[in-house]
Amino acid sequence: MRQVLLAVSALAILSACGSEPDDSDIILPSAPQADMSRALEIFETLSSDAMEGRRMQTPGHEKARSYLQSQILKSGYFDRFEIQTFEAKKYNRKGKQTGTYPGFNLIAEIDGDPKNEKPILIITAHYDHLGVRDGKIFNGADDNASGCAALFAIAESFRQAPPEHDILFAWVDVEETGLQGAFAVVADDKIIGERKAFNLNLDMISQDETEIFLVGTYHYPELKSVLSGAAHGTGIKLKLGHDRPEDGDQDWTELSDHFPFHDAGIPFAYFGVEDHQYYHHHKDEFETIPLEFYKGSVQTVVNAAHLLDDNLGELARARSDKKSKNNK
Ligand SMILES: [Zn+2]
Repeated sequence: MRQVLLAVSALAILSACGSEPDDSDIILPSAPQADMSRALEIFETLSSDAMEGRRMQTPGHEKARSYLQSQILKSGYFDRFEIQTFEAKKYNRKGKQTGTYPGFNLIAEIDGDPKNEKPILIITAHYDHLGVRDGKIFNGADDNASGCAALFAIAESFRQAPPEHDILFAWVDVEETGLQGAFAVVADDKIIGERKAFNLNLDMISQDETEIFLVGTYHYPELKSVLSGAAHGTGIKLKLGHDRPEDGDQDWTELSDHFPFHDAGIPFAYFGVEDHQYYHHHKDEFETIPLEFYKGSVQTVVNAAHLLDDNLGELARARSDKKSKNNK
């Protein structure tokens, strides 16, 4: 997903990328306590060797997909489930398209607005990863089994405290080569249509000891007062940043599944940890994850989802006519 600069100057840039939220006018979260049991089980299983690093068009990817589908159905959290199939482009190492293959987005909904009139909150996390390279499994625990598992904790919390809006959960595919699953969600008229929408994207939310970034407040300053309190009482710190043009390659605006929404005029909030040594490395394994941090991180995104549901009317926007550009 992101290019990692580990040089000293990069560290100087990094520390300049984030700022502490000004807590003068923040809204404190009132979401339920997250139930971590199912999320932890899914996190460990999705990143296990059995899933062989979940690379598109491999048996491991198919196993991960049917495992996620079975968890979605048996959880009882969702009112509706479907698989959105789309045509993914295949590229060679030079970036030249060499063909196409089917991609699979897993989409489930909690029906908070039976009339389907109000804005919709779309929560995304990609489940594909890098597979096996040189005989080593790239388990993709932080990237992004951590986000995929957290969607279940968010759904469970909306069972405890039902939402005012429709909440769409999308485990998207083919993120690692061009955010293609997320582009397919945005382009599908049956999913968003003319409704106003907002995207909450989770990608790499577990591999840190102390802090997680909220990305998007530079583009959508109205998010600051709504989400700056999301980590309140969770034991972890929330930092705002990695979204200004002057951040250079530390600007994550275009580097994960929130970008297709942003590009179509739909606002987003992305949660993710800072670059780390296990990024796109075969050691990105469940055993390396600081679970106490992960519990705080999951509660933070649960809080964020409820704060967004409470304030969606002010935040959500319809797809702009920029949409057409992406359908090429
Ligand atoms: Zn990722």
